[in-house]
Amino acid sequence: MQLLDGKLLSQQIKLEIAEQVRTIKINGGKKPCLAAILVGNNGASETYVASKVKSCQEVGFDSKLIKLPADTTERELLTEINKLNNDDQVDGFIVQLPLPKHIREQKIIEAISPEKDVDGFHPNNMGKLALGLDGFVSATPNGIIEMLKRYNIPTEGKNCVVLGRSNIVGTPMSLLMSRKAYPGNATVTLLHSKSEQLREHLKNADIIIAAIGIPEFLKGNMVKEGAVVVDVGISRVPDASKKSGFTLKGDVKFDEVAPKCSYISPVPGGVGLMTVTSLLLNTLKAATRRHADK
Ligand code: NAP
Repeated sequence: MQLLDGKLLSQQIKLEIAEQVRTIKINGGKKPCLAAILVGNNGASETYVASKVKSCQEVGFDSKLIKLPADTTERELLTEINKLNNDDQVDGFIVQLPLPKHIREQKIIEAISPEKDVDGFHPNNMGKLALGLDGFVSATPNGIIEMLKRYNIPTEGKNCVVLGRSNIVGTPMSLLMSRKAYPGNATVTLLHSKSEQLREHLKNADIIIAAIGIPEFLKGNMVKEGAVVVDVGISRVPDASKKSGFTLKGDVKFDEVAPKCSYISPVPGGVGLMTVTSLLLNTLKAATRRHADK
């Protein structure tokens, strides 16, 4: 069994990005700039946004964090988005999800300019992905693709099960694994809460990408020998022995599943770190495109 080491990979990719930023500056260009809007005080969201800002600093990007109170209205948030859409200094931006209940997420996603939508959630970018056109692919699936590519995992003709059909992970992941490219060209089965014969599908899978948010759902007896398992899940499980009061668990029962796998990604230290790195890659792409257009 070999670990799909998100920490090591993301360090390597960040060095490559930093090198490209140096080249841009040497050539008299502007540093890429990523902005993030955070609404309210969700602890997990604050941690994710902080890690995105820190990663920008590590690779030499400019970054901008806009913190808004939990009672921000939808209209106020739309005004902030409009400002970022028109801010020439900002190459790409994200609105950290989830948003407070009184704000319609889809409305917010659709207000972001597709050219600055480095999270890849806008229907324009999702549509491009479905059609095999060049757009922004959402950060987590993009990070998983990068991981499979850099570990040279064979995907062509393989049975790939994607567990979970969310708009941000499962659905784009299934499109990427079935596209005519590497990594891709797999035979994809997309499973969800209404799927029947889930165990049979899983047992038949050469590659499993688990994104359902149920801690340790995937057990050893659900996986075939030699499978590649990518664990996307991140759940905070109460743990009195930890200072934070919780421990992070993936969707995979690692100690049971890992011995059967050819490759497996751990939680933490796997997909989560690749997600942040992939956001940086999308921002670099946004900046390069915008400045090439000028
Ligand atoms: P989500 O919106 O939470 O949806 C969960 C999906 O799992 C749904 O499609 C649901 O089916 C399916 N599901 C739920 N119970 C199931 C079951 N018993 N059997 C089969 N399918 C089941 O998904 P998400 O936003 O992609 O999040 C999934 C997990 O990934 C969470 O732990 C999240 O924190 C984590 N995540 C991690 C990263 C990262 O960077 N590592 C990024 C994003 C998300 P239905 O559609 O039928 O309801």
